[in-house]
Amino acid sequence: MLVLKFGGTSVANAQAILQIAAVLKEKTYPKNMMVVVSAMSGVTDMLVSCYQKAAQHDASYHEVIQQLETKHMEAIEQLIPHSYQIDVKGKVKLLLRELEDICQGVFLLDELSDGIKARIMSYGELLSSSVVSVAFNHQDLPNTLIDSRDYIVTDNNYLNAKVDQKKTFALIKERMADAALTIAPGFISRTETGKTSVLGRGGSDYTASIYAAALNAERLEIWSDVDGMYTADPRKVKAASSIKELSYKEAMELAYFGAKVLYPPTIAPLVAAQIPLVLKNTFNPSHKGTWITASPAAGQNSIKGVSCIDNIALITLSGSGMVGVPGIAMRMFKAVATQNINIYFITQSSSEQSITIAMADQEGQLALQALTKEFSQDIEVHDVDPVSLEPHMSIVAIVGNGMIQQPGIAGTMFSILGSHSINIRAIAQGATERNISIVVSGEDSVKAVNLLHDSFFLAKTEKQAEALA
Ligand code: ADP
Ligand code: ASP
Ligand code: MG
Repeated sequence: MLVLKFGGTSVANAQAILQIAAVLKEKTYPKNMMVVVSAMSGVTDMLVSCYQKAAQHDASYHEVIQQLETKHMEAIEQLIPHSYQIDVKGKVKLLLRELEDICQGVFLLDELSDGIKARIMSYGELLSSSVVSVAFNHQDLPNTLIDSRDYIVTDNNYLNAKVDQKKTFALIKERMADAALTIAPGFISRTETGKTSVLGRGGSDYTASIYAAALNAERLEIWSDVDGMYTADPRKVKAASSIKELSYKEAMELAYFGAKVLYPPTIAPLVAAQIPLVLKNTFNPSHKGTWITASPAAGQNSIKGVSCIDNIALITLSGSGMVGVPGIAMRMFKAVATQNINIYFITQSSSEQSITIAMADQEGQLALQALTKEFSQDIEVHDVDPVSLEPHMSIVAIVGNGMIQQPGIAGTMFSILGSHSINIRAIAQGATERNISIVVSGEDSVKAVNLLHDSFFLAKTEKQAEALA
């Protein structure tokens, strides 16, 4: 079994869908293949704007639904012979009428729960998988279309749902038909009580890895619009290049710290079953892409990549009364966790006088309020200073297994940034020594990533070239 996931740009229009068909036909794969698809690019954002408009009593969500209809109908008209279009066009219309009814409910009732948001967002993948399935039937790729909600069971954290792997794996093993080619929508799932949930933005990668692990696939291939995982975000760093091989742990760290090409939870299900993951480019299929396994061949560079997360808020809790008092960190994390806020970064000064945490900018105020409330008495007696919030920061991380044996990397990192007047607000190194992350002002992030990339990758390449000359 081979599982392949195609992202939004790979199903963006008729031409891209034909490109996927060409990729699949190249596979001289003997047994079964499963293809997981995202929504057509831009569609999930359009669905988000539908519920936002409806909730604000703005009837222009109808226009967005009209645009969704045009987008899908255009693809159908270009992909499917005229006399066969009627069924799939009917299905698309039916799905869009359901969507319209739900949005109208939101519009009329002024009610918008996370459950409704998830339900509205699910239409992107329901539509794309329906179109792709019929298109493939007409491309000599007969297939069975499934609804991932019948297989993937989650908790009721509707928008970032956590998969119940035990129940999900059991359902996949029990229900999955033995088809040569199965098409499945990514991203969408169902709670135990039968409500639609979604696996977080970018979650189709995760859907594919769940299927791959449950079906003990030989390999998972994630196809997008770049030649694999790059040494840095190619949108920020012109000189970034595709990385040949990575370990699961390196890939997870790069993804966690912002390499959007891979949704971070995707790796975990693959690790236990030791399923290799390959990141490939739909529009450049002959490129080998990035291979991610447990023990890749040792590369020349101990650092594999530089990642960056923008729009970060830093919160610092400090005070002379914190020194040697047990339980402060626990109270801090608990106060933030009860608000369901995800912490990206933690650092404590060695004097124990301050703890700094980082989270998404949009959650900064909420965290500030929660912490100010939790420590109000300590602040009143001056054991703890008023909690401080610094918005618009970025986390920049360098990642690589080889850093474990190589001293001085942190020093190089700080001196490069220092010599270019970039102020480092906080530093953390994971206990695994696989990652060093720093926090800089958001304004400095692109410059910091480029400086680090140039010095750890380009300088090396130049030195190697000189040595070879
Ligand atoms: P898909 O829609 O196929 O899931 P995504 O948009 O989620 O694709 O991810 C691919 C994009 O990730 C690329 O177009 C690229 O701009 C961005 N990206 C960010 N960081 C990296 C990186 N380190 N390596 C490769 N791509 C990256
Ligand atoms: N369509 C969803 C999103 O845009 C899931 C995905 O593309 O992976 O977030
Ligand atoms: Mg993606």
